[in-house]
Amino acid sequence: MSGLDSQPRKDRIMPTSQMTCPDLREARRQRRAEDAAREQARRAAARQPGARIWKWMYTPDGDRLHDVGLFVDGTLYNPRHYPEDVVRAAIGAAMERRQVRRHVSAKQAAATRQVRRERRIYQLVQRYRERGAFTPATHCALCRRALTDPASLARGIGSECWSEVLAHLTTVEIARSLSQLDRGGPAEQL
Ligand SMILES: [Zn+2]
Repeated sequence: MSGLDSQPRKDRIMPTSQMTCPDLREARRQRRAEDAAREQARRAAARQPGARIWKWMYTPDGDRLHDVGLFVDGTLYNPRHYPEDVVRAAIGAAMERRQVRRHVSAKQAAATRQVRRERRIYQLVQRYRERGAFTPATHCALCRRALTDPASLARGIGSECWSEVLAHLTTVEIARSLSQLDRGGPAEQL
């Protein structure tokens, strides 16, 4: 139709730096002030003990809500006056997602701990086999807790952890380890 439509779009938009209209500048200044006030209000709300405040979140329907939250007494933080049921549904869904995430990561952490512990047990068994003797220590080689009874100190492994290590030793090794503890060795010097 006209040459205007065929022009590149960027040529028709004035760069922000060239905007001089005082009204426009005033509008931008006001908007910045409102944003700052909103930010400040949200931070104040978030400082309330037990409050959960979101800068933004999605509703289960995929709409975005800004500045919403829940106080510990069950009242909503909702300065933009969204419908209360919409906000509650969105917060409920967000909390549920968070709980699922936490559950999953707690399970992963427990699995990782277990793997590390088993690796450590294997290393302790290897060390015992290589030396043919215990390595006395003041802290458990498996759980790092302080040891108190003479047998644990002589083994360098607490009695609870020892029962786990024991399960990986052969009957001959177990018999030898028991006689070593009976003979005392480091334990007798205590
Ligand atoms: Zn231990």
